[in-house]
This record gives sequence, structure tokens and C-alpha cells, in this order.
Amino acid sequence: TKWVYRFGGGKAEGGAADVALLGGKGANLAEMAALGLPVPPGMTIVTEACLHYFGNARSLPDGLRAEVLAGLADMERLTGRRFGGAERPLLLSVRSGARASMPGMMDTVLNLGLNDETVQALGHDSGDARFAWDSYRRFIQMYGDVVMGLDHEVFEEILEDEKARLGHDYDTELSAVEWQHVVSLYKQVIEEELGEAFPQDPELQLWRAIAAVFSSWNNARAVTYRTLHQIPHAWGTAVNVQAMVFGNLGSSSATGVAFTRNPSTGERSLYGEFLINAQGEDVVAGIRTPQSLTEEGRLASGSEKPSMEKLMPETFAEFRAICDRLEAHYGDMQDVEFTVERGRLWMLQTRAGKRTTRAAMKIAVDLVDEGVISEEEAICRIEPPSLDQLLHPTIDPRVARTVLGSGLPASPGAASGEIVFTAEDAVAAEAEGRKVVLVRSETSPEDIHGMHVAEAILTTRGGMTSHAAVVARGMGIPCVVGAGGLRVDMRNEQLVGPGFTLKRGEVVTVDGSSGHLLKGEVPMIQPELSGDFGRLMDWADKARRMAVRTNADTPADARAARAFGAEGIGLCRTEHMFFEGGRIHVMREMILAEDEAGRRAALDKLLPMQRSDFTELFTIMSGLPVTIRLLDPPLHEFLPKSQEEILEVAAAMEMEPAQLARRVEALHEFNPMLGHRGCRLAISYPEIAEMQARAIFEAAAAAAKATGAAVELEIMVPLVGLRAELDYVKACIDTVAADVSRETGLPIGYLAGTMIELPRAAIRAHVIAETADFFSFGTNDLTQTTFGISRDDAASFIPTYQRKGIIVQDPFISLDFDGVGELIRIAAERGRKTKANLKLGICGEHGGDPTSIRFCEEVGLDYVSCSPFRVPIARLAAAQAAI
Ligand code: PEP
Ligand code: MG
Repeated sequence: TKWVYRFGGGKAEGGAADVALLGGKGANLAEMAALGLPVPPGMTIVTEACLHYFGNARSLPDGLRAEVLAGLADMERLTGRRFGGAERPLLLSVRSGARASMPGMMDTVLNLGLNDETVQALGHDSGDARFAWDSYRRFIQMYGDVVMGLDHEVFEEILEDEKARLGHDYDTELSAVEWQHVVSLYKQVIEEELGEAFPQDPELQLWRAIAAVFSSWNNARAVTYRTLHQIPHAWGTAVNVQAMVFGNLGSSSATGVAFTRNPSTGERSLYGEFLINAQGEDVVAGIRTPQSLTEEGRLASGSEKPSMEKLMPETFAEFRAICDRLEAHYGDMQDVEFTVERGRLWMLQTRAGKRTTRAAMKIAVDLVDEGVISEEEAICRIEPPSLDQLLHPTIDPRVARTVLGSGLPASPGAASGEIVFTAEDAVAAEAEGRKVVLVRSETSPEDIHGMHVAEAILTTRGGMTSHAAVVARGMGIPCVVGAGGLRVDMRNEQLVGPGFTLKRGEVVTVDGSSGHLLKGEVPMIQPELSGDFGRLMDWADKARRMAVRTNADTPADARAARAFGAEGIGLCRTEHMFFEGGRIHVMREMILAEDEAGRRAALDKLLPMQRSDFTELFTIMSGLPVTIRLLDPPLHEFLPKSQEEILEVAAAMEMEPAQLARRVEALHEFNPMLGHRGCRLAISYPEIAEMQARAIFEAAAAAAKATGAAVELEIMVPLVGLRAELDYVKACIDTVAADVSRETGLPIGYLAGTMIELPRAAIRAHVIAETADFFSFGTNDLTQTTFGISRDDAASFIPTYQRKGIIVQDPFISLDFDGVGELIRIAAERGRKTKANLKLGICGEHGGDPTSIRFCEEVGLDYVSCSPFRVPIARLAAAQAAI
């Protein structure tokens, strides 16, 4: 095995394609080095070495040492420095770098190679003894924490005590001699606490740092992060060992981060921040508020502090040219880190930049217009679930509002909730079903769990690239950062602003698009779906094969879904219509009737109500296919349950409560989901199916007359297991169709089909297809009946199954390809063998899940149907599946 890949001096052994081996950071450092960009020379120890480390009782592989030493020799040659040298010492950074970015989750050691001797050399060489001793103490602090396991607070306390003793307020006020004293205190505390001296041998420092970075792959927060982001635990991290460059060597040195386009809006302009005389981690940590890179950015932020463009025009020009080159090379917006050491520019990282969905959309569409990528590539650049961000409400601009404070608009969208000040409070409140806004002075990786459950995030410090901003954008949570006019008073659990204080629990609204914090809950409006969104969705529509329909029971749902691009209704659950308004009473009359005559009397009252519901739905969907499902749930779902409800309903129906209770009791079932429901109802009480069929046909005729275009009518029979069941119900439907056609003098066209929700139906699909014109896979019930897991009770143990690794995905959310999927495959194949033009669709919840949609494409379904808000997601996912 080759354990080490070297880069630097215009050459590299690996490249961007080697992410699995080199991790994201290592692969892109190699790529930049090979492009001839100024990258400090270094080497990447491959992820396989990490796997070896964990697989062999935490020992480093044989052969690694020789390769690392060879790499070091190269670095010494390229830098003209020596590792551990008493003159011009080479110092190293040792950083993690996994295949997927895991910001701040793993460990880093900087300034490695310093000891009591090389610190003198560094001082001499840089001409800055103060810098050298500051670097040494930073190194001991980091190494002591990360490698030796001594809490960083131990060091911070020492430093605070020293500053107090010396009368200094800021670190920058300490002199060389004073830092030297801090170093001796640090070394002393290490000996006292750990019974071991701070290691002076640079090579030993290096081996221990490499092992520590490997170990950090499995620290608790990294494991949590991977679980949250579905990053495989088996990947391991690479380690990047690189020559140090210093952004903290005075006022001609700096460090910064940039996006080649605006990560919030997607606009094509270099966007970033930097800090003069600082080390890399200072920018991301959000501790000092950084300055803009460009003049444009400075003006936009209203900052007084000069931009890099103004301060270092030549270095800035070089930097901008490199950004352009990287963007063109990768064909995507890049997120880069850089350092300027005494006027000399060094690139430390590049990767595809995280962005809001709005920005992703704009960038993808712009790159197509710029001729950089194809329309299909653009479609594949957007994560379908992320569209959710665009479909969510923003603040209604017409309403009055009280702005309490403002900061940087770090992640768009708006949301309201109660203020909480800690991640723990956020999690606790969310568990009680309350909506919260997490307010912090700044966030750190330790706050992730709280950020995840918050409706919105507000910080009082940090910039657009601070932890809070980056993480919130990734999660699609509205976020405002750096609201400098506000102060978090943790002790009293309040947020203090000019002339007001807000206590924990008070409701505020965060507008991540404008950067405002608003008082109370503010009305929102629905988003605009034209522009870039519209163009990208048009391309997706061209690229996909499957149609996308919606599950809609009400006119409001149907209208929303059409606006989102639904091409018809794949499932109208008629039972939902029976809960509306006064209908439930008539429905109960029907259910409680003693005989058929009584039922028919009640059904006669229901008929016009159903007819007008359907007429409205058909009018909205005119010209498109609409699938209406006959009554499905067990009848007692419509009846009162508690004693209280029974009394109330009995009074309303002018019935004896005891009589009602008896009837409710008689309809009780032990296992209703496997009981008297679905087509079984239509077989027991054909008059119900007849009424529904009549309402459907009459409504279709009325809507066609009104709009001039008929819907493509599909009537669907639920929970069929036997062909004879379908035959029986279809005969009822056909008879009604003939009757209505005779009465109206108009021909009636329709398809009659069934849901496939039972394993028996899937297996006997070739026989059922002799009667059915279409199948619609009801994967909610099909999952329930295949696994024998009640869909209503699964939540009590599925999370345990996931935690214990028995299943990865909840099968009610993402289709179980091997089991339920196999039944779908069988049914599709057998059904089409009988009837080549059998229409196939899916209407379970999986119809809106991107991975399940990919499966539907593979099996060759004609359409997917999902809830209205998921229609755009399904359109995009169907396109990606087809590409
Ligand atoms: C299904 O079972 O997948 C389905 C769509 O029907 P329902 O959810 O109404 O049972
Ligand atoms: Mg069902």
C-alpha cells in the first residue's frame, strides 16, 4: 500500500478524483498544487491508514514512517527549512480531512515542530521573538489539549491569571518575555497534571499528532455529526501534514476565507472576509468580526474597516485571479481558505462551497448561461429535498413590524419561536412540541443538536462564514449572525438590546433574508416560484420520464399542487371529505342506520355534497388525470370514542346515548387496519360505492361542461387482495356509469383500477390485471402488510431499531427496496404481462421521497404521486433518476 501522497512545488501525486483516498481537503490541495497554484508543500496520509489504525489496536501501519520521512525531506527541500532544525526550522500543520466535509468536528494541531530550541531559531529567523514564543505557547496549548488530553481551559486559566497579574487586557499586549513565561507555566502544568514532560522531539510530536487526528474520527461529536448527515462511519479520515505559513506575522500578513460567488444569493461576485495579523482558525471561530475582502462587500456591509482590495491591492489581484481559475477549473462555486504571509499569498483549501438553495439554483442556472455546465448537470447540482427551503414562507412585506435588532442575513427564510439560550433548552422545548429560536453569542460544534431542532438561529457575534452561518445554511434554517447591537446575558437568561430586554420564552421572528430580528410572531407569505426556480424546473420537466401527480383531497390542496406543477391527482382520499363541515353528521347517520333503506336515505343526502366536492376538484384539475379512491377506512373511525363524545353526538343525533354506545361497541374491531375496511366495505355495503360512483360521474359531466375539458377519470378500489373483490366492485361502478350515461345522454370515459397494498395482490397481479386498468402502489399499507409492522405504532420502536443498527432507514419514509420493492417489481412485471398498457403509479408517502423515486424510475412506473409541497421535489428527483 502507498500510505502517503505528496504535493507541492507545482506537482502532486494525487488529484481531485482521489477524494476517497485523500479526503476532500487532501485531494483538492493536490489538485491546486498540480495546477501550479501557491500551495505550501505537504503530504496526505490516506484514509486507509486511518482504517488500519482502528483495525489494529490504534497502531500506525508499517511502512508509513519511511514514506512520511520521505515526504518531510521533500518539504524541507521545497521550503529550504529543516524539521527540528536549529536554524530555519520547518513547522507543520497536521489536519484531518474526510471524504465529506465535517466542519470543526475533528482535531487539528498547528505549529508542530516547536521545542525549546527551535523556538529560538524561529524567533531569530522571523526577526520576531514575540511571535515565536506566542506560536510556541499556541502549539503547547493545542497539542496539550488534542494530543495529551489536558482540557484547554487549564491553559486558558493560566493565561487569564498571567494577564491579570501583568495588568494586560488583551493577548496582543504580552511581550516576548511574558509569553516565554507563559510557556514555562504551560509546560509545568503538563508535567504536574500528566506526569510527563512536554515532548521535545519533533518526530515524536508528529507521530503522536497523526495518531490523535486519526482518533478524532471517532470522537463523540464527529460520530454524532456523521449519523446526522448520513456519512458512513467506515470511511475514516485522511491526515494532511503541511508546511506552516503564518498569517500572524504583522500587518502585511492576514488570513481569510472566500466564496467565489455569494453563498446566500448566488450572485456572481467574490465574497469573503479576512483578518489582518491572525491565524486561520480565528476567522471561522467568529471571535473577531472580520473585514470584507472586496470594496463592494465593504460598502454593502456598511463597515468602516478597509477591504483587502484596498489594503493589499496586488495580493488581492492575484487572489482574485486564482479564484476565477479555480471556479473555471472545477465548474462550480468554490469555498477557499488562504493566508498571506508578509505579502505572499498561499492557498490552503478549496472545495465546492456550501450555499443556500436559492443560491444553488441561481449558480446552476448562471453556469448553464455562461456555458460552463449543461442543463442536465445543473439539474443534478440541486439536492431535491433542499427545494423545501424555497417553498417555505417569508415575511409578508405589507404588514407592520417592529425591528428589535439586525445582523448579517446568513441563511434565508423566516421563522418565529420562543427564545432559548442553550442547545439543551432548544432540544427540551422541541420535545414538548414548542417552536424555538436559538439565541447565542456565537455557536460551536457542541451546539449542533440544538441548532437542528431550532426554527431559527440568532447570534450576536461572527460573520457570514462563522460556524452558525455555515451550519444554518446547510440545514436550511433561517439564521441571522453578528447582531452586534444585541447582547446575550446568559446569567439572567435574557437578550438585551437598546431600550429592551427579552426573556427566555418570549416570542420573536428571525428573518434570515433581511437580517432582522422582529418582535413577536409576524405574518408570512408564500414564495415566488418563477425566475431561476422556474427555469430549472422546466429543464427537469424536460428530462424526466415519469409524471408527477399529487395526493389531494381538498380544493386548496389541489390548487397548491397545481401551482407547484402537479400533473393531476394520484390519490383523492374521499374519506377526508366526510369529515368536513356538517358531513360528519350525515356520515354517522349512514353508519348507524339499522338497514339498507336507512343507509340509502343518508347516502341520498351525502350524494350532492360529494358531487359538489368532486366538481370543484375536477374543475381545478381540468384536462388532467384524477384518481378518486372509494371509501377506505373502517367505519368506526367516523364515530365518537370517549364517553363524553358519545353523549355529545347522541344529543346532536337525537339518539339514546346507550343505543349509540352499543352501536359503537358493535363496530369495534381488534385490528381495524386488517379489518372491515377498503373494498370490503363496498362489498358489504355496495350502496356506498354506488353513491360515490354516481357523485364522481355526475361531477365529471358537470365539470366538463363548465370547463370544456374533461378530466381523465380513474376510479380506484382500495385494499384488494382477490381479483373477485375487484370484479364485484367494478361491476357496481360500471352499472352506475351506464345509468348516468343514459340519464345525461353523454358517453362516460373512465378507468377502473386498484391499489396494490397487500402482498397477495402483488403476487397475483397478473390475475388482478385482467380486471384492473391501472395499479397504484399504496406503499404505506404495502409496507405495513409486508413487514407486519403497524404504521400507526411503528414510531415506538423504529428509532430503537435504527439506533441498534438493525435497520438504517425507516421503511415508512424510504422504500424498503429488498422486500416491499421486490413485491412492487413482481406486481409491475406480472401486471404488464397480462396488460401491456397497464398504468402504474405510486401514491404512498414514498412517492415524495427522492431515493424511492429513483427506484420507481427503475421499475418503470408511469407516475409518482405525493403531497403538494413535495411536488417540486418529486419533479426534480424524477429528472435526476432519468438522467
Ligand atoms: C397507502 O396505503 O399507501 C395509501 C396511499 O393509502 P392510505 O395511506 O390512505 O392508507
Ligand atoms: Mg392504504
